[in-house]
Amino acid sequence: MDSAHHPVASTDEGAWQGATRVVRAGLPDAVPGTPYLPGPVFAAPYHAPGDPSQSPYTYGRFDNPSWKGYESALMSLEGGPCVLFPSGMAATAAVLATLVPPGASVLMAAECYYTTRVMATQTFAGGWFASQGMQVVQAPTANDGILHALEHWSGPLAMVWLESPTNPQLDVCDIAAIAARAHALGAIVVVDNTTATPLLQQPLSLGADVCVVSDTKAMTGHGDIVLGHVAVRDGAHADALRMWRTRMGVIPGPMEAWLAHRSLGTLHVRMMQQCRTAQVVAEFLAARAASGSVVRNVRYPGLPGDRAHVLALRQMTHFGGVVSFELPSADAATRFFAASQLVYEATSFGGLHTSAERRARWGGDAVNEGFIRLSVGLEDVNDLVRDLAQALDAI
Ligand code: PLP
Repeated sequence: MDSAHHPVASTDEGAWQGATRVVRAGLPDAVPGTPYLPGPVFAAPYHAPGDPSQSPYTYGRFDNPSWKGYESALMSLEGGPCVLFPSGMAATAAVLATLVPPGASVLMAAECYYTTRVMATQTFAGGWFASQGMQVVQAPTANDGILHALEHWSGPLAMVWLESPTNPQLDVCDIAAIAARAHALGAIVVVDNTTATPLLQQPLSLGADVCVVSDTKAMTGHGDIVLGHVAVRDGAHADALRMWRTRMGVIPGPMEAWLAHRSLGTLHVRMMQQCRTAQVVAEFLAARAASGSVVRNVRYPGLPGDRAHVLALRQMTHFGGVVSFELPSADAATRFFAASQLVYEATSFGGLHTSAERRARWGGDAVNEGFIRLSVGLEDVNDLVRDLAQALDAI
């Protein structure tokens, strides 16, 4: 097999900083005449005579060099083996399906991503998988709600599902403390790390067993890919997840894997800029709120007065690119979007274009009608603040 299609982790990777890792991780050795990042490999069958175990690749549903390249880059960031999936929800489904035994209980953050809660409570605990008998109990993320639920837990527990910071309310939980308590109960801990990315927060090194990320968001950052991954500490978990992917056929496209690997190279510069701008935007919105304008309840883990700040400081290196705030009503939000020139009204977050949405339009989150989730992009910070100011004035 062509070495360009066998990404080899450099022996120096262990000492690299995040900025270096995102640029270089998962790239093959520098073989003259080969590209830095070999293009996507499109193949269903591969040449594979005789004993299939002698061929590195045999069939496109089993493995793919473009997945492997991105997975090996992710491993360098996450600190454990990674398995790529075609979306964040495919990654979430694989974890719930393979790592929770039949009839077992899951303690889940009550404000984690809405579709994750729906999948757990309506799909795995009811619906198609009702016969599996999964029990889902929810506890609040803020104010150590999950830790308290664990302290009072009686009976067996298979998994604790966390999200920190949560989407869209941006609450934070103490991953290390929860992991210690959950492990004492024999449960594994999963963290949905989508809002932070492994660059800002490393759940596995904080004690979590599994980390789930929607790469659709900041990981790829250009708003053009849907993808997800799972990082684990235990190789047996990675094997189970790969087996699920192969058997169920929930496989990512080679093109998406390659685009994600290419986009990863700018993750550090994108995230650092988005974090800097988000801090300025959050402070601007908080000042507006303090002066009695239409803005209320600004949430950003980087604001010193935010209830998530102290914990976020301890377990995150930076605070991310998402800010939330409230306007008085759905109508006020409509006027805000109509007046803004730089804020795309769109769902999702983490991309290079600033976007926002009124979350209550979807239902499912305990937020009021004027709650806005704002994803800060890469536009000039002064342009952005000026645009936000005039859009808020127009309300
Ligand atoms: N987890 C979080 C925190 C999310 O915000 C999302 C999507 O918005 C997902 C998981 C699901 O990811 P995907 O849309 O890639 O399936």
